[in-house]
Amino acid sequence: MTELPETVNVRRRIGVMGGTFDPIHHGHLVAASEVRSWFALDEVVFVPTGEPWQKTHRQVSAPEDRYLMTVIATASNPRFWVSRVDIERGGPTYTIDTLRDLSKALPDAELYFITGVDALGEIFTWRDASELFELAHFVGCTRPGYDMDESVLEGIPRDKVTIVEIPALAISSTDCRERTTAGDPVWYLVPDGVVQYIHKHALYRPDRPRPRQGLT
Ligand code: ATP
Ligand code: MG
Repeated sequence: MTELPETVNVRRRIGVMGGTFDPIHHGHLVAASEVRSWFALDEVVFVPTGEPWQKTHRQVSAPEDRYLMTVIATASNPRFWVSRVDIERGGPTYTIDTLRDLSKALPDAELYFITGVDALGEIFTWRDASELFELAHFVGCTRPGYDMDESVLEGIPRDKVTIVEIPALAISSTDCRERTTAGDPVWYLVPDGVVQYIHKHALYRPDRPRPRQGLT
């Protein structure tokens, strides 16, 4: 019988799920879980954005609130982690910076950037697009209400992008915020701990003073 070598040089496969996560919801978590399983990823790192440059038309919750909700939502999954790289860098978040920072921090890892098909088009028009493909493989997840515009993939190396079909969960952070502002429930759209965090910190309720402001 041939013995296996003691160390097998296999690179770790790490998923990178960037998002505003204002708030994180079950659509994000199912997408990350499905992609983790299909690509046999060892772990998925959720990376809440710093100041999202695409969302200047609305007030985005404080990075610390979005970070904590992401930690609460992912804490029970041993393969899910949360990174502060985009929050610590400050300023608007560009995916190229996220991937540069993570590949420096995880030099032995093969990175898979997970994103919705709605966001793919924007990514590929970003600055330094060609370097993006040197740093990661891109996984575009289908999302209810968004049809994939195939022209987005024109000129993109086919071996660098995979489109995957996710069980449809018609949940968006926008809808969760609007429901909360209107006093409607978000139970079961977001994890229980996130429902409680939103209420405890009076997020998305401009009429309510935030409790213990300045102490947290
Ligand atoms: P908002 O409504 O504020 O834009 P969002 O629900 O789109 O929020 P983001 O934080 O913008 O959430 O999304 C992070 C990533 O997760 C994006 O790439 C987005 O396409 C993807 N995503 C969000 N919701 C879903 C869903 N229900 N199914 C699949 N992918 C999703
Ligand atoms: Mg979005």
